[in-house]
Amino acid sequence: MVAFDNVIGHNINKVFLTKEIEENRIPNSFIFYGENGVGKHIMAIELAKILNCEDKDRPCNRCFNCKAINSKEHPDIVEIDPQVNLKQNGESVKFREVIDKLIENSVYRPSVGKKKIIIIDDAAFLSVPAMNNLLKIVEEPPDYMHVFLITQNINRILPTIQSRSQLLKFNALKEEEMREILKKNNIDIDEIILSLSNGSMGNYLYLKNIHFEKFLKMLNIIMDTVLNARDMATILNASTKVSQKLSKKGRENYLELKEFFSFISNVLNLILVQGKLYDCFESFYHTVFALAKNNDIKNDINSRIKMVGKAKEVIDTSLKAVNSYVNIELILLEFIRQFGGSFRGIL
Ligand SMILES: [Zn+2]
Repeated sequence: MVAFDNVIGHNINKVFLTKEIEENRIPNSFIFYGENGVGKHIMAIELAKILNCEDKDRPCNRCFNCKAINSKEHPDIVEIDPQVNLKQNGESVKFREVIDKLIENSVYRPSVGKKKIIIIDDAAFLSVPAMNNLLKIVEEPPDYMHVFLITQNINRILPTIQSRSQLLKFNALKEEEMREILKKNNIDIDEIILSLSNGSMGNYLYLKNIHFEKFLKMLNIIMDTVLNARDMATILNASTKVSQKLSKKGRENYLELKEFFSFISNVLNLILVQGKLYDCFESFYHTVFALAKNNDIKNDINSRIKMVGKAKEVIDTSLKAVNSYVNIELILLEFIRQFGGSFRGIL
């Protein structure tokens, strides 16, 4: 028997994998793709255990192989994260070397387990030369070798690797699945954060650990300025204040700003489309309708959806600037100048 009990949700993928394993034709190369923090990595680990477990009911979590994989000490399972290494060394070339070494070693059978497995998370961060080298294993893998690539962005994986791999898409988690995971891990359920997480545990934890409070403060500064500021000096001052709340570590700042814009987008959905009004967003809500200068809009879902659409266009423009690494204060300045317009003159 094979079971993916540790993975919550993703039933279609579980059924598919179980069938492949039971019929003993599990593909050598997989690409697990989809939203961040929904269970791709844990699926890869569970699959690695199942393929190596010595018990009849797999994974048993008691045999040598299962235990060693759980504690990340298994000699035949290699987990690499190009992003982490990129940050440490500032060079993606390193990965080519790591992968070259893995290819070199792939001629040797597993040392203690049944299968050798390489897990790469997030594979989209591999350099093209590294991916080209990886292709060598993916093209003609020894039967004891598996490669599991994990990524949020399938388009950044070489088409030649994609075509030789089994693709498995991971969708956002359902609300009840999120609750089940939170409960299982003894994490407090915060209803507001749950509503803003888009079915991703990754997003939930990101917001729960400091970012929610921080983003809320940043949003309130912006809304205040949007409502009251008449002059550029005040707007500039606000954009400086907001940018100072970011973590101030080079490119991480841009990642955080991206998350902030997606937070605003989720808040818009929650408050204006779903109509859920939490106390912490009261000032946001009032500002939006003060800008609209028409109270009837509050009860008109079509106008509210129109507002959200306009606001998302402003957010999209800012996201493009984030992706091009435009100066952060300038991005915020433009955002504050444009954002208020989304709520004015609707009807
Ligand atoms: Zn086992």
